[in-house]
Amino acid sequence: MEIKLLENQEKKNRIIFSLSGVDTAYANTLRRLMGFEVPVMAIEDVEFRKNNSILYDEVLAHRLGLIPLTTDLKSYDLPEECKCKGAGCASCQVKLTLKATGPGMVYSSELKSKDPAIKPVFSKIPIVKLLEGQEVELEATAILGQGKVHSKWCPGLVYYKIPDPDKNEFIFTVESWGQLNPKEIVLKAIDVYNKQLEEFIDKIKSLE
Ligand SMILES: [Zn+2]
Repeated sequence: MEIKLLENQEKKNRIIFSLSGVDTAYANTLRRLMGFEVPVMAIEDVEFRKNNSILYDEVLAHRLGLIPLTTDLKSYDLPEECKCKGAGCASCQVKLTLKATGPGMVYSSELKSKDPAIKPVFSKIPIVKLLEGQEVELEATAILGQGKVHSKWCPGLVYYKIPDPDKNEFIFTVESWGQLNPKEIVLKAIDVYNKQLEEFIDKIKSLE
């Protein structure tokens, strides 16, 4: 197996590398792991205190869920793998609050996070436009999740091209949506793969 970094486009949050000496099944496994199993943070739950804007609570909650949040994988666990067993604690969730009064556009930068490491990647994402007298007040809960469950937890766009069908070479592009950097996506995918293989070994051994 050989890996060569072809391009590191930091401004575009994108890396391009070539992977050779593996077959299509292996390359595709890596692609799927990167796109759908690498966890990132996203808003999953919203408690509304006030909302007399033009958008219904559920529409607003959906929009909030799609805002990419910077993700710190060292400090958070997936709820189902957390020591609290999914009940919710400081190791698996973070609260963000939003309080805005019209008139004016409410932007993602107005979401105030309890953890400075978990905040909107982009500050100028429009959430809702408020008119005079309209207000929104809410508390949102963000958790780690995986793209295979909902695309809001997708870490980015991952694909490969095969320049020469006779050679086992795959040109991978990993473009992050900003929650993690592209290298973190690749490394975390391998980490997830290792864990799955360990689980597989344990299960095989328990059959003996
Ligand atoms: Zn927890």
